Amino acid sequence: MSEVLDVFRSIVGTTQVVTGEEAKAWAKDYTKAYTPSPLAAVFPKTTQEVSKILQFCNQKKISVVPSGGRTGLSGGAVAARQEVVISTSKMNGIFGVNPVEKTIHCQAGVVTKELQRAAVDAGLYFPVDFASSGSSHIGGNVATNAGGIKVIRYGLIRQWVSGLKVVLADGSILELTNACVKNNTGYDLKHLFIGSEGTLGIITEVIMNLTTPPKELMVCLFALNKLEDITSLFELTQKMALPLTAYEMFTSFGLLRVQEHTKLKSPFSKLHPFYTLIEVEKISDKTEGYLEQFVQKAFDEKIIVDGVLSQSSQQDQDFWGLRENIAESLSALTVAHKNDISLPLSKITPFCTDLQEIISSKYPGFEAVIFGHIGDGNLHVNFTKPEKMSKDEFFAHAKKSDVSMFELVKKYGGSISAEHGIGLTKKDFLHYTRSPLEIGIMKKIKQDLDPNEIMNPGKVF
Ligand SMILES: Cc1cc2nc3c(=O)[nH]c(=O)nc-3n(C[C@H](O)[C@H](O)[C@H](O)COP(=O)(O)OP(=O)(O)OC[C@H]3O[C@@H](n4cnc5c(N)ncnc54)[C@H](O)[C@@H]3O)c2cc1C
Repeated sequence: MSEVLDVFRSIVGTTQVVTGEEAKAWAKDYTKAYTPSPLAAVFPKTTQEVSKILQFCNQKKISVVPSGGRTGLSGGAVAARQEVVISTSKMNGIFGVNPVEKTIHCQAGVVTKELQRAAVDAGLYFPVDFASSGSSHIGGNVATNAGGIKVIRYGLIRQWVSGLKVVLADGSILELTNACVKNNTGYDLKHLFIGSEGTLGIITEVIMNLTTPPKELMVCLFALNKLEDITSLFELTQKMALPLTAYEMFTSFGLLRVQEHTKLKSPFSKLHPFYTLIEVEKISDKTEGYLEQFVQKAFDEKIIVDGVLSQSSQQDQDFWGLRENIAESLSALTVAHKNDISLPLSKITPFCTDLQEIISSKYPGFEAVIFGHIGDGNLHVNFTKPEKMSKDEFFAHAKKSDVSMFELVKKYGGSISAEHGIGLTKKDFLHYTRSPLEIGIMKKIKQDLDPNEIMNPGKVF
């Protein structure tokens, strides 16, 4: 053990290796179900250092866990079996923005919000955004193919990756940084690493595409009585060609928890069963008029029962806060079991109706808190612990409820993980969404790139 640590110290410096309690803090993500137990946590600063660490670990067959901002919700960055945590926290250099190519080149440990700021400073825009962007790393975002609140307009992070530098399990450095927009020369290997959750290599540098900033954004909050009205309202946005940049939903339960946990207030005088948050880009002088017509039509067709258009940037933030603070508020106020599924939009109402029936009949006392990026068919389904149930009993039931829910997801042609990945939490359920043939091919790729199985072992499969 001490020889191993000495090798790490010789590569990264004595202060960049921690063990014991200090290492444990780096060996977990946002999930609470696993007890961290790492061998050590190591903080390289360069691709070369990562390469040397992996070369050594591969020779000695020492397992490693790549770690970014540790905001993951699937246990992907958990080191619970004496693995070495390789953190990108010290790899936070921004090399520069290329205004002609509209790209930014940086190390993998740059915090997502910092990358967004650097883009703004250069008069450009990086559109991938979510509630955890103040802590997550761009490398972690790529490794999880992160989505977020703007997917409806800008897509997942996969769409924004121009190039990657990746260190493979044996320490070799793979440069996937050809800057050409068009490059049809065989397999585009960078896509293998996007969403690979640290199981195929460590991303050390990224080149991300940027775009021009959106024009003024208008944020509206609507109150609805029925679940199906949420899809009807979305259909109306499409019929009226509203330039949406976000379409989110939450329920009265989520709103109440946020109000309990934060100082935010609802703009409505009474509580309604469902809410949608819509963000629209004012692409021309006419957009505001179109938005007014849309709201009038939604009222006339009785799809919405109330609505508010934000009047200031503070109110924009407050409306967004009501949606984005739900996960945080639930974690602070209660014990919640989280799921992140996606479904074809047309199946959301029958799915939720069936789910509610199953929960009421099989899991009495469970509250299903549903919110999410519904314009993409992405629902965060959280079950909260009944007051009198012990934590252990709750999590045992929650695991069973997952099976019931994933059967439904399969029935309606959805996915068991929309954005958060498989990691540890969902690996037993991968077969609900991926065929045996697909899983077989994934395993062959893993075996080929990491024959000693040192890269994040036990995750995904
Ligand atoms: C409040 C909250 C809201 C969230 N909202 C969203 C959302 O809207 N959309 C969304 O997609 N996610 C969301 N997430 C989940 C999470 O923020 C994302 O998955 C994020 O991309 C994880 O980045 P990270 O740097 O924190 O990664 P980590 O948690 O550190 O790691 C995640 C996985 O990536 C691997 N990894 C990390 N860095 C590297 C690297 N450099 N090379 C190779 N593998 C690596 C790890 O081993 C692990 O498997 C949310 C999380 C929280 C807590």
